Amino acid sequence: MLIIKITQSNSQCPICLERFEVGCEAKKMPCDQILRIIHLERSSMEEGKI
Ligand SMILES: [Zn+2]
Repeated sequence: MLIIKITQSNSQCPICLERFEVGCEAKKMPCDQILRIIHLERSSMEEGKI
């Protein structure tokens, strides 16, 4: 997965439905969804993988 920087504020996190702030970092999933890194850190701790 890629870590990208948000350059436009019109994209939205599909988990918490909040808009990304320009300049913040996010992870781009293989399916083209962009998630906040905080969600991935939580899920990887719970599941013990990724
Ligand atoms: Zn989110």
